[in-house]
Amino acid sequence: GNRGPEKEIPFNQPGSLTRVFAVASGKGGVGKSSVTVNLAASMAASGLKVGIVDADIYGHSIPRMLGAAERPTKVEDMIMPPVAHDIKVISVGMFKPPEGNTPVVWRGPMLDRALHQFLADVYWGDLDVLLLDLPPGTGDIAISVAQRLPGAEILVVTTPQMAAAEVAERAGSIAAQTHQQIAGVIENMSWLPCPHCDERISVFGEGGGQTVADALTRILGARVPLLGQVPIDMRLREGGDEGKPLVLTDPDSPAAAELRSIAGAL
Ligand code: ADP
Repeated sequence: GNRGPEKEIPFNQPGSLTRVFAVASGKGGVGKSSVTVNLAASMAASGLKVGIVDADIYGHSIPRMLGAAERPTKVEDMIMPPVAHDIKVISVGMFKPPEGNTPVVWRGPMLDRALHQFLADVYWGDLDVLLLDLPPGTGDIAISVAQRLPGAEILVVTTPQMAAAEVAERAGSIAAQTHQQIAGVIENMSWLPCPHCDERISVFGEGGGQTVADALTRILGARVPLLGQVPIDMRLREGGDEGKPLVLTDPDSPAAAELRSIAGAL
């Protein structure tokens, strides 16, 4: 049908003061959503106005990780996002039928339209930071983000594992092709602190984050920094399951301290 002209995306307006970060990873399960939620919570706790778009159609785990149980409401032609831990959050999962644990099957054009709706039809107010949790991989959504949000900066999340690093590098190089800025690389699950001594156990190997940062630096011809290395911490996982980000419940734990330092440096 005839939809008429598309609404403008506020973050693209000249003079918009919102920094937009798109959090990407080569594959699932590397902790992209956990990192997104903890960066957002850390920024919100430091007084910034923060929003998250959960565009991870396969995972869409952000609402659970934030304990955001409500659905968005509609006020006139705007969608009001639920707020949890002072973070406005909108998720593809909030637009599924309520009974459904049915997997969401999205095609590229649908996803692109959903992304536009999340950006233009949601009442975000004056945000300092908007974080987008992208689906893993180098799919259509990466292209959509590049077109819809040319000013977005990419954050690449990887584990230390070399196989993961390779696919993360591919995800990052898509951003390079679409001329997006890459803010940096975050290595997650970097080590497990030995419960009995000071040693660090390299569960997933070593070096993946630095390898991705170096490769992207070469591809872009501009320095892409490794922003931090987040250790494995069972409480980070538990915090995610309970809707309480670790940076808020135990901010001085090594994993939370690293995430807060990354958030502060962005
Ligand atoms: P992705 O978004 O990349 O698919 P998630 O953030 O959903 O990954 O993380 C996958 C699983 O690993 C989740 O159960 C999460 O709680 C856990 N996890 C992520 N990072 C860590 C970490 N540093 N320490 C312990 N568990 C983690």
